Amino acid sequence: PIYLDYSATTPVDPRVLAKMIPWLSENFGNPASRSHAYGWAAEEAVEIAREQVASLIGADPREIVWTSGATESNNLAIKGAARFHSARGKHLITVKTEHKSVLDTCRELERDGFEITWLDVQENGLIDFDVFAAAIRPDTILASVMLVNNEIGVIQDIARLGTLCREKGVIFHVDAAQATGKVAIDLASLPVDMMSLSAHKTYGPKGIGALYVSRKPRVRIDALIHGGGHERGMRSGTLPTHQIVGMGEAYWIARENMGADNERARWLRDRLMQGLMKLDQVFVNGDMDQRVPHNLNLSFNFVEGESLLMGIKDVAVSSGSACTSASLEPSYVLRALGRSDELAHSSIRFSIGRFTTQDEIDAVIEKISASVSKLRELSPLWDM
Ligand code: PMP
Repeated sequence: PIYLDYSATTPVDPRVLAKMIPWLSENFGNPASRSHAYGWAAEEAVEIAREQVASLIGADPREIVWTSGATESNNLAIKGAARFHSARGKHLITVKTEHKSVLDTCRELERDGFEITWLDVQENGLIDFDVFAAAIRPDTILASVMLVNNEIGVIQDIARLGTLCREKGVIFHVDAAQATGKVAIDLASLPVDMMSLSAHKTYGPKGIGALYVSRKPRVRIDALIHGGGHERGMRSGTLPTHQIVGMGEAYWIARENMGADNERARWLRDRLMQGLMKLDQVFVNGDMDQRVPHNLNLSFNFVEGESLLMGIKDVAVSSGSACTSASLEPSYVLRALGRSDELAHSSIRFSIGRFTTQDEIDAVIEKISASVSKLRELSPLWDM
């Protein structure tokens, strides 16, 4: 099978795996054990990883809080800040194309009496700055905007939005789960207060992530998980040393490889796009310039995404229908771009990664082209 679903998850890089193993076997200590060498060794490994993660995003290691992944980081950032600052206001801003872990967290806060503004995006998936600015009110406490969209790969102008938030005293949270190793991030200069990170989108293990919580300016949040007071009280629980070491190493490699990874991905993505655009009635979803090079999201008009996936069983990609749940709802992200139900249903997300080869791309072009042509021949609507 050919794997072109790197935005869903990535394999653990072999170099990452090698670093993780000893922390599951001989070095099994609890990083919170302060009285013996087992604990000290684990704590040191955790702190090295903290530096590695911080260094990919230009943060201070003390600004990194370990979590179980970006879902938890998004929950902690948004609920944590909303609850801590609720005396100041109860209005939050987010965007219709955010990940479910942001949208559903905001919906939960709505049930708790907070008010949410759900921003539309433009046809290319990008936020209109004026629309964002107009949504800010005196009682707005937080805005949450993703850096890179998971379905269409578009990159929002975080610097500009964040600058406005700073001016207006609005806490700015950014979900960067899909951005690490793809977009250069320097939080020393980027006006972002909290940033959610995940390891498994960047060749690290699943089940580990982090939340960046700014110290300058200092951002205060309530904890969600209470207990032993780990992570400066922001997230209790024994730290999973092996997972943390894996995330650190994965981010370290991402920092070294970002240029080469991006260049290769772009070349392969462009080849894939050229190959598939030879078919009629194929539409690109999302802006092609403000976009990570790993992502290609296409709608194949007159073809049902699910049927296309069936026709190319040995190719692992995601379809815009039924992708996030068992329901047959078309992608809410594509709907937010104003795509019709038909085009949303006929969309496929291709995501390229570090281990994708040219042969794989060429094989996928061939398989998709054959499958699309066959399905269209069978379609009563297709008449070309
Ligand atoms: N945000 C975005 C943009 C994502 O793509 C994902 C993963 N699908 C998440 C958050 C959730 O990350 P995790 O799997 O680490 O909980």
